[in-house]
Amino acid sequence: MHHQADFDQLLAEIGHLKRQNRSRTAREIAQEQIIDQLTVLLQGSRQQIDELTVSNLELAQLSYTDGLTSLYNHRFMMERCSSEFNRAKRYNSGLSCVLIDIDNFKLFNDTYGHQFGDFVLKKLGALLKKTARSSDICGRYGGEEFIVLIPLPLEEAMEYVLRLHTTIAEHVFADGENSARITVSIGLADYRCDMQAWSEMISRADQVLYLAKNSGRNLVRVWTERNDEPEEIVDNGSVNQLKKQFTDIYQQVKSSYVESANALLKAIDAKDHYTFRHSQNVARYATVLAEALGLRKQEIEIVKNAALLHDLGKIGIDERLLVKKGALSGAEYEILQKHPVIAVNIIKNISLLAREIPLILHHHERYDGLGYPHGLKANEIPLGAKILAIADAFDAMTTSRQFRPKRPVSQALQQIAAEKGHQFDPQLVDVFLLCMATPPKVAADGPGAIISAVEPCLQLAARL
Ligand code: GH3
Ligand code: MG
Ligand code: MG
Repeated sequence: MHHQADFDQLLAEIGHLKRQNRSRTAREIAQEQIIDQLTVLLQGSRQQIDELTVSNLELAQLSYTDGLTSLYNHRFMMERCSSEFNRAKRYNSGLSCVLIDIDNFKLFNDTYGHQFGDFVLKKLGALLKKTARSSDICGRYGGEEFIVLIPLPLEEAMEYVLRLHTTIAEHVFADGENSARITVSIGLADYRCDMQAWSEMISRADQVLYLAKNSGRNLVRVWTERNDEPEEIVDNGSVNQLKKQFTDIYQQVKSSYVESANALLKAIDAKDHYTFRHSQNVARYATVLAEALGLRKQEIEIVKNAALLHDLGKIGIDERLLVKKGALSGAEYEILQKHPVIAVNIIKNISLLAREIPLILHHHERYDGLGYPHGLKANEIPLGAKILAIADAFDAMTTSRQFRPKRPVSQALQQIAAEKGHQFDPQLVDVFLLCMATPPKVAADGPGAIISAVEPCLQLAARL
C-alpha cells in the first residue's frame, strides 16, 4: 500500500510536472512569441533608428554647410571659432583667423552675370580647401567673404595666406562660357592671450581686411599692435600714415612746380610788370573768397594754384600787346583772348595740375555766356573759375597799369556789384562783397588793408 501511495504521489507529481511542463511550455511559447514580436519590433526600430541617424546626420550637415560652396557656413564657423579659441586659451596654442573678401565682386557680377559669379564662389571655396591643410577649417563667412581658422601661430598661418593669395591671383576661373581672374583682399589676425572673447580675433581680422581694401585691394594685411592705437583705428593706421606722407610729398612737388611756374611768370613780368604781382594778388583774393564759400582745404589749394598760374599763357603773347595803351583792335583782342588756351597747352601734360587746368581755361568765361574761350554760362563754368573771374577783375581794377590808372576799391566793388548776374555769378558776388566789407579799413585804405586783414592767407601765398 505504501507503494500505491508512493505511485499516486508520483503520478500526482508527474501530473503536476506535466501541468507545470505544459504551462512552462505555454509560457515559453508566449515568451518566444513576445520575443519574436519584440525582435521584429526591435529590428524595425533599429532600422528606423538607423534611418533617423542618417537623416539627422544629413540635417546636421545641412545646418552647418553652405549650400553653394559646400564649405562650413557662418553659424558653424562662429561655433568653431569659439571652441578653437577656448582650446587655444587652455593649451596656450597658436590660432590664426583669415578673412578673405573678393575685390569688386559686385562689378564682377555686373560684368559676367550672377551665374558665373556663383561659379567663381564655388570654385574659390574649392581653392581655399585645396590650399589648406586638413587641420585648417574653411568656411563661407558671408556673400563673397570667406573665413579660414588655422590652428597655428601667425607666422605659420602667413605661409598659407601668401600661398593662397598667389594661387587665387594666378587662377583662371573658366566655366566654358566665361573666363576671368579675380583678386582678393585678406585680413589676418591671431589669438592673443589677452583676448577676452573669440569675437575679438575676428574683428581684428576684419579691421585689417578693411585696411587692405582701403589701400587699394589685392593685398594681405596682418593685424599688429599698431593697428589698435586709437587714432589709427579712426584713420586706418599705417596706411593713412603712408597716404599722408605721400600727400605731403605730392604737395611739396606740386608747390615746387607752381613755384617754378611762378618764376616763369617773372619772365612775363619783364614784359608786363603787372602780371607777376597780379597773379599773387588774384591768389589772395580768390583764397579769401574760396574760404568764405566754405570750400575744403584741398579745393582752396587748387583755386590758389590756378590763380597763380591763370595768366601763364601771356608768356606766349607779344609784349607790345600786353602793355598797349588805348583800345585793342579786334584782331589784337582775339590774340589776347588766347592766353587761357596757351596756359593750358603749357601745363596740360602735368598730371599734378589736372584739377587746376579747367579753372585756368575758363577764368574768362562770363556768367551770361558771353565770355571766352568756350562761351560757357552759369553753372557750366567751374566754381573755381568763377571765383578767379571775380578776383581777377577786382585786382585788375584796383591796380594801376601803364595804360590806365587804378580805381578806388569802392568803385571796383561797385563795378563788381553791377556785373552781378552778367559777368559774375550773383551768389559769388554777394559773398565777395561781404568779404570785402568785413574788414573796416578796406574802403578807406585800399587793397593793401584787405590783404593785411587776411594775414594767414597772405602768409600762405607768401610760401608759394
Ligand atoms: P569690395 O572690393 O569693396 O569688397 O567690393 P565688392 O563689390 O566685392 O563688395 P560689396 O560688399 O559692395 O558687394 C559684394 C557683392 O558680392 C554684392 C553681390 O553682388 C555679390 N555677392 C554676394 N553674394 C553672392 C552670391 O551668392 N553670388 C553671387 N554671384 N554674388 C554674390
Ligand atoms: Mg564684402
Ligand atoms: Mg568684396
